[in-house]
Amino acid sequence: MKEDLYCVIDIGGTKILLLLMDDAENILFREKRATPKPEEPDAIIRVISELLAEANRKIGYRPEKKPKAIGVCIAAFLDHRKGLIYQSPNLHWSETVPFAQIMSEQLNCPVFIENDANAAVVGEVFYGAARGHRNAVYVTISTGIGGGLFLDGKLFRGHSGFAGEIGHIKPFGKGRTCNCGGDDCLEIWASGTGISLSAETLWSADEISPAKLDAKWVFEEAEKENTLAQKIVDQTMEITGRGLANLVNLFNPSCIVIGGGVAGNRKKYFTGISKVIREEAIKPSVEITPLEIVPAQLEPDAGLWGMYAILTSRLEE
Ligand SMILES: [Zn+2]
Repeated sequence: MKEDLYCVIDIGGTKILLLLMDDAENILFREKRATPKPEEPDAIIRVISELLAEANRKIGYRPEKKPKAIGVCIAAFLDHRKGLIYQSPNLHWSETVPFAQIMSEQLNCPVFIENDANAAVVGEVFYGAARGHRNAVYVTISTGIGGGLFLDGKLFRGHSGFAGEIGHIKPFGKGRTCNCGGDDCLEIWASGTGISLSAETLWSADEISPAKLDAKWVFEEAEKENTLAQKIVDQTMEITGRGLANLVNLFNPSCIVIGGGVAGNRKKYFTGISKVIREEAIKPSVEITPLEIVPAQLEPDAGLWGMYAILTSRLEE
């Protein structure tokens, strides 16, 4: 084992995943726990502290040798410099929490925080599907739609850290209020949630129980040539492709990484989106720029690898 240890953590709405790594990219310990309910910051830090103690026992490193730094990725609007989490809908945090400071004091170790999709684009660029690219866009399509921007060789966070909210570009349909409070965002039409909502307009509760009308069911039905289901899939490919074509026009990336539960392992859907992107983006951005459109490689660990990259480079600065 090399000298320095790094701890990277993904705090999600349902689980907390923690890795302990050395400075040669080896994973020494990996464990997950359910996210405590209610999701109080102190309760979450307690779980992390227990996981670190367990790591300590399992890998047998000296108790006085704590990680050089801890990196936390989390679905939240946050300030990575100040370590503040302003809002985390998944954790039901609506007031500002000085999370990095609290955690750093309790665990006696420097703590860095990052938005999960921002961390994921860094992970895919340094270790995954966008390796070597200096301009890459990452999009994850699952219950919601998230995104991260890596531009000119750096993570692009925007003024306050809220850049890359690809799910909330608009408008992509008519008459739906998004979880962000806005109307007709890409997410509310093209995410797993959006697909379910579209299905609910086509099948009544008498025909099929609404609980069954999820994205998985719609894709399975489309495979069986159910024309209504195919229509929904076509519509989501079209609007997702158009949304991503807008990003190509804005940022001229050389790589788009598509991940998430809706996109994962659905070759036709992935190909359909790629086709729309290439058709709808300005021609120089797809013909002169060698634009790669690739599936994510590191799921569900992209954010963790991103945090590892952030920790190891930041500390050398
Ligand atoms: Zn929205």
